[in-house]
Amino acid sequence: MKQLENKVAIVTGGASGIGKAIVHLFIQEGAKVVVADLNEKLGDELIDSLGDSNIIFVKADASSAEDNKKIVEVAIENFGALHIAVNNAGIGGDSATVGELSIESWKKVIDINLNGVFYGMHYQLPEIEKVGGSIINMASILGQVGFANSSAYVAAKHGVVGLTKTAGWEYATKGVRINAIGPGFIATPLVDNALDENALKYLETQHAFQRLGRPEEVAELALWLASDKSSFVTASYYPVDGGYLAK
Ligand code: NAD
Repeated sequence: MKQLENKVAIVTGGASGIGKAIVHLFIQEGAKVVVADLNEKLGDELIDSLGDSNIIFVKADASSAEDNKKIVEVAIENFGALHIAVNNAGIGGDSATVGELSIESWKKVIDINLNGVFYGMHYQLPEIEKVGGSIINMASILGQVGFANSSAYVAAKHGVVGLTKTAGWEYATKGVRINAIGPGFIATPLVDNALDENALKYLETQHAFQRLGRPEEVAELALWLASDKSSFVTASYYPVDGGYLAK
């Protein structure tokens, strides 16, 4: 039997990179998936490439509470229940010191990467509680350690880890497990577009494997956390970082 047979999942930021790899794996494992993303073109391409009736794309902004409500409504209207949510949408933001970073840049990153996770869980939890399930929030190694010129991103990801630990405790006895994933640097458009070749080469050396991770390697951890195989796991942070944090 497939691991997510008869399960309904939401994946935000599911049209690219890590989210897209998670969507592919969840569909392969039998889930029905609502993909939510701001990028309609990438979303439509993903739906066309999969050609599966168990997948729906919703254009939605993760930083909008209203849109997060709408994503849950789409899942319920089309698939009748919600068991799994992956709050994955995120941006890198501008590279600048705390003194130089604009207030708008700070707010934008916090709005998408942190507030978006709260809004998502706020609307997902009442539905998931009815049937039992799992929420997976996409944090980062930068939810555990600092990184120069990335204060908003680092603060948001630390916030996601704290939010996950708290919600995990609140809902453990209500049938919902809530965990955070902490990827190292993964080869996706987010990283490729933000960094030049030298920076990428340097970052490769910061992982014990001397390479960046692949989106599919993060998706495998998301599948395990989404499935019943991780039944005694909640309120935790799981690295998939090629040894980055151990250095
Ligand atoms: P990506 O840019 O490939 O994909 C991110 C997706 O999120 C895109 O499809 C984008 O359109 C969507 N998105 C952006 N803002 C949105 C919004 N406001 N509402 C809805 N969708 C929005 O990036 P990725 O590397 O796959 O990143 C996915 C998640 O993983 C992010 O939360 C990121 O912070 C986290 N992460 C990435 C890395 C990495 O090295 N790539 C490392 C650690 C954590």
